[in-house]
Parts: sequence; C-alpha cells; structure tokens
Amino acid sequence: MKRKILLIEDNDQNRYMTTFLLERHGYEVVSAVDGPTGIELASRIQPSLILLDIQLPQMDGYAVARALRQNPALDRVPIVAVTSYAMVGDRENILAAGCDGYTEKPINPETFVAEIERYLRPRNGGNTS
Ligand code: MN
Repeated sequence: MKRKILLIEDNDQNRYMTTFLLERHGYEVVSAVDGPTGIELASRIQPSLILLDIQLPQMDGYAVARALRQNPALDRVPIVAVTSYAMVGDRENILAAGCDGYTEKPINPETFVAEIERYLRPRNGGNTS
C-alpha cells in the first residue's frame, strides 16, 4: 500500500511540483489549498506525513500546526513545514507550533524527497529506540 502524504499548500505551482516529485517516488499525495481543509483531511486520511506551507491565506501554517497538534489521533504524524521565510526565529516558531522540522522553498527537486523522508516513521512501527 502506498504511503499517504498530506500536502497543505495554496500555490498551484508549488503544489504541482511537490506532488509530481512525491508521486514519482511512489507516494500517494492528498492536497489541500487551505488550512481548514487540510485539518479536516488529516483526521480523515491519517497521513504518514504532513507537508505544511507556512504562508497560507487566513489561517497561517503556524495556526494549522497548532490545530493539528491538538488532535490526539494525529499525535504521531510528522509535520514538516515548507517555508520561504528566511528570518531568524522562524525555526523556533515552527517547532514551537508543533512541527517536527522544516524545509525551504524553493524546493530542490534533486534532494526534496530524501529530505522529507528523514521525518517519516518506520513503516511497521518497529523498534523506534
Ligand atoms: Mn503559500
């Protein structure tokens, strides 16, 4: 069974590129263009990982991450922020909001998938020492 990745991203081109790369590596991608839709999808599909744009209309990525982390059913799902912000303090804000890490935009097609795979949990649950 393919592993599902939830992509919450409002920019069409970024969504297209990210989906293309992940699908090429055998992942199933479910995407949402705004926070509320992403939050609703997350509890419904139980993804293996959530990729979260920080700059989203209305509800930004920080608020989305906090909302996701309030759902105990999603407790173990890694959240990786995708951000073009390069300001000092962003990393702290991203982690404080409940994300496991972040990757920077524009994404590098050569390394992107390997980069986010570092956050995936072992498939069988297995020994996570
Ligand atoms: Mn955006």
